[in-house]
Order: sequence, then structure tokens, then C-alpha cells
Amino acid sequence: MEKKHIALVTGGSRGIGKAICKELAQKSYHIIINYRSNKDAALDTLKEIEENGGSAELLAFDVADYQSVEQALNNWKEANSEKVIDVLVNNAGINHDTLFVWMEKEQWDKVINTNLNGVYNTSRVLIQDMIMNKWGRIVNIVSLSGQKGQAGQVNYSASKAGIIGATKSLALEVGKKKITVNAVAPGFIDTDMVAELDQKMLKKLIPANRFGKAEEVASLVGFLASDKAAYITGEVISINGGLYT
Ligand code: NDP
Repeated sequence: MEKKHIALVTGGSRGIGKAICKELAQKSYHIIINYRSNKDAALDTLKEIEENGGSAELLAFDVADYQSVEQALNNWKEANSEKVIDVLVNNAGINHDTLFVWMEKEQWDKVINTNLNGVYNTSRVLIQDMIMNKWGRIVNIVSLSGQKGQAGQVNYSASKAGIIGATKSLALEVGKKKITVNAVAPGFIDTDMVAELDQKMLKKLIPANRFGKAEEVASLVGFLASDKAAYITGEVISINGGLYT
């Protein structure tokens, strides 16, 4: 019998991460739903997965805090000694937008620590097991903002561009072990993160004339996390309704 894949989705409680949890659960992966503070939202995600016949559990930690990531994941490993987390979706992310001239050090640090260092923290703790397992999938959620830049997002763009570089380098290091490492770069996706934006005005700039749906991003991540995507690695795949062109 084929081994059941186990997927950790950081920031799996809401938005894009929630949709990814549901997509991977539908593919029969066991899901570890990570969240930072909103336990109710994480419980809702868990409930929806279980109601649809999937299997999942919650694991709270702050991706920005290496010690807490390491402790939570090591505790999980101890309690599940025969099992390997073989799919990692680094989705947790925040933004603190403001023009660079006004950007406080704290706003810079918070975004870099969560988005960029968060990817180091989880990947570093899990990569060894994936190597031993000789199969793995890492999918990093980046952003159009990290590809082309965005005024008001110097911190956020820097964090996402940093992840793109890390994605490409790590893909080179672990390719021989059947581990793929890719990035998915969404444009505007309708979630809490963009709730304050003027969708009506912004959609005029998007060739597809609408914001994307979290489920559309999830479907792409689902493919990259599958066996079928074994020959795709080190890539940044855009999903932005044509906004980048
Ligand atoms: P949301 O704000 O809707 O959700 C963010 C999720 O990340 C929540 O589950 C939240 O947990 C979690 N999270 C935030 N900080 C941490 C942390 N330090 N540790 C653990 N979990 C954390 O965001 P989106 O769904 O919109 O975004 C998901 C990803 O997609 C992000 O990386 C974002 O940068 C990227 N993206 C989003 C775009 C968009 O238009 N929406 C466009 C391009 C990229 P909790 O519920 O506990 O707060």
C-alpha cells in the first residue's frame, strides 16, 4: 500500500492556506494545519476537512520564532515516530505596507522574520527527514510583489524575493533526493489580507478583470505537491490573471 502523504501547511487557518489544506485533504493527504493565533479559524478548517472525509490536526506555532517551530515539530515527530512530514507548504505571511521613507525598523523586521525567516525555520527543521525519506515537496507561497516590486511594499517584496532565491538554491541541493522545491506567486487573491483594497478599482488593472480565488491557488499547489509534478523544481509559477505581463 502506498504511504499516506503528510502535509504541513503554515498559516492553514484562513485564506489561501485554508484552501490549500482542503485541496490536499481531498487528495487524501493527512493535513497539519498550522496557525499562529486564530484558533477558531483553524478549528473551522479542521471541521470542514473532517466533514468531507479528510484527516487533519492542528499545530500552533509562530513561524517567525525558530525555537517554537523546532519545539512544536519535534514534539510532533516524537508522537508520530514512524511518520514523515513529506509535504511542506510555506504559506504563512503578513504585510505591513507603507512607503519606505515612513517604514519603521519594526515593520521591516516583522515582515522579514515572518515571511522569509519563517521559510528557513520550517524547512530547516523538516528537510533532513525529507532527505532520509527520499521524497518530498516544498511549495513556497511568494507574490507578484516579490517578482516585479510594489510601491509601499519594500519589506514585503524583499521577503518574497528572498524566498524566490532560497527556493531556487534549495531545489539544486535536494533534487537528487526526489525533493522538489517550487514557489507559487499569486497576484491579487480575495482573502483577509487584501480586504482593505479597492477591488473595483484594482480589477481594472488585471487582464482577467477580477481578483483570484484562494481555491485557484490551492489547485496549483495541489498539483505541485503531487507525484505528477516530479519534474518541476526550482520554478516560480505565477497565478495572477495576467497582471504580470
Ligand atoms: P491571510 O491574512 O488571509 O492569512 C494569513 C495566514 O497566515 C493565517 O492563517 C495566519 O494565522 C497565518 N499567519 C500569519 N502570521 C503567522 C505566523 N507568524 N505564524 C504562523 N502563521 C501565521 O493571508 P492570505 O491567505 O491572503 O495569504 C497567504 C499567503 O499568500 C501569504 O504568504 C501572502 O503573502 C501570500 N499572498 C497573498 C496574496 C493575496 O492577494 N491575498 C497575494 C500574493 C501572495 P492566524 O489565523 O492564526 O492569524
